[in-house]
Amino acid sequence: MSVKASTFNKKARRHAADMHTRKNRAHSFRCHYCGAQLTQEAVTREHIRPLSKGGDDSSTNIVFACRCCNLQRGNSDYDLFKEYMLPVKRARAAGLPIPALPPYVSPARGGK
Ligand SMILES: [Zn+2]
Repeated sequence: MSVKASTFNKKARRHAADMHTRKNRAHSFRCHYCGAQLTQEAVTREHIRPLSKGGDDSSTNIVFACRCCNLQRGNSDYDLFKEYMLPVKRARAAGLPIPALPPYVSPARGGK
């Protein structure tokens, strides 16, 4: 009986530790582009190389982004969009007011 109780306790401790890790991960979700704090409901999986351009679902091709950044970027160039959002990310990290950016012109959408 003590073996079973011990096994149960080990599983319970492992489960508690796992839940603690998951909770911490949820709290540490920040948008890859703008640095906004993300809730589990607001987080989206963003493909660095879009699926439409041959990207895949591997962990090295996915970052967490807010819905707004994900939609704005669409399938445009990753580096250009990241650079475009840099002033927002820097301001947020420094606790400064978020600067207004001009509308993002996606090169992938023919300048529209
Ligand atoms: Zn964002």
